[in-house]
Amino acid sequence: MEIRKDYILDSYTIIAENRSKRPNEFKRNDDNGSIAKCDFCPGNEQMTLPGIGHLGSPWNMRWFPNKYPLADCNDRQSISINDKYFKSIYPYGFHEVIVETNDHSKQLFDFNIEELKVLLDVYCDRIRDLSSKEKIEYVLVLKNHGINAGTSLQHSHSQILALNHVPELITRELNAVNNYDNCPYCEIIEIEKNSPRYCYENEGFIALTPYAPRFNYELWILAKKHILSITQLNDSEKHQLAEILQKALIKLKSLDVSFNLLLINSPEGFIKNMPEGQKQGLHFRIMITPKTNIRAGLEESFDLYVDTTTPETAAEFYR
Ligand SMILES: [Zn+2]
Ligand SMILES: [Zn+2]
Repeated sequence: MEIRKDYILDSYTIIAENRSKRPNEFKRNDDNGSIAKCDFCPGNEQMTLPGIGHLGSPWNMRWFPNKYPLADCNDRQSISINDKYFKSIYPYGFHEVIVETNDHSKQLFDFNIEELKVLLDVYCDRIRDLSSKEKIEYVLVLKNHGINAGTSLQHSHSQILALNHVPELITRELNAVNNYDNCPYCEIIEIEKNSPRYCYENEGFIALTPYAPRFNYELWILAKKHILSITQLNDSEKHQLAEILQKALIKLKSLDVSFNLLLINSPEGFIKNMPEGQKQGLHFRIMITPKTNIRAGLEESFDLYVDTTTPETAAEFYR
C-alpha cells in the first residue's frame, strides 16, 4: 500500500492491491444479497475484525476496522520515496466501517429522522476520537450506496478514513476559500436562497443544487451559520440536519440510482487553532453525488464534467 504523487501535479493515487481481494456481492448475481454470507449481518460478526463500538443490545449499529484498509497504523515512513519525480508515502491511519443497521434489507433512505440523527452522532464520535490520535490530520466520512458508487456489499454501511494528511479535495477547497476575505459559502447561501437551484431549508440548513455540479442531481446540504465541521453542531442542530437529509434521501430513493455521500469538514485542528496563513476554514456541508451517468473519457481524463440534467431541473425534482 502506498500513496504516489503525480510526476508534477498535486494529485495523488493510493495503490492498494489488498483491496482487489474484497468480496463482491454484486458479482454473485444475487440481487437479494445472500444474508447467510453477508459479513455485516447479525450472527456473522466473526467475519469482520473485532468491533470498536456498537449501539444497542446486541446491536443496532456497530463499527470495526476495515478488513481491506486504505490506510493502517504500521509506521512505514522509512519506505517513503522523495525523489524529484517519484514521490510516495505509506498511507498511515485508520480505516473503519460503520454498519448502520442490523437489518440487511434496510437502506439509508428507509431510516427515520431519529435513526439518521443517531448515525450523525456516531460520525461525530468517530471524527473526534480518531482526530485525537497521534499523527492524524484529517478524518474523512463517506457513504457509498449502490454498485455504481463503488460499494461491494449492499448491507448499508459508511466508511471512516483517518489519515496523516489532508486529502487533495479538502486542501484545494481550503486554498480556494483563502482567496476571499469572508467565507464565500456564507455569501453563496444568501444568493442561492433566491435562485432556481434552491431546494428547501429548515431552521439550520439549506439544500441546493450547485451552479456547476460535477454529477447529475448533485445536491449540497449546507449549514446556514458558519460552522467548520459537523462536530460543532449541537443536538438540536443535528436533528435538523437529519430532517433535511431524510428529505433528500427519500427523493434519491425515487431516482433509484447509486450515490456517494461525503461530509466536507475542515480538519479538526483548524477548529482549535487556525494555521498561520489560513484566513478561514471550510464551511461544513454534505455533498451527495448520484451516479446516473457513466464517467466517460472527458471526465476520466480531463477532469471536465458533462451533465445532462441542469441543476435547475434537478432542484425542481428535489423540491
Ligand atoms: Zn447483511
Ligand atoms: Zn461560512
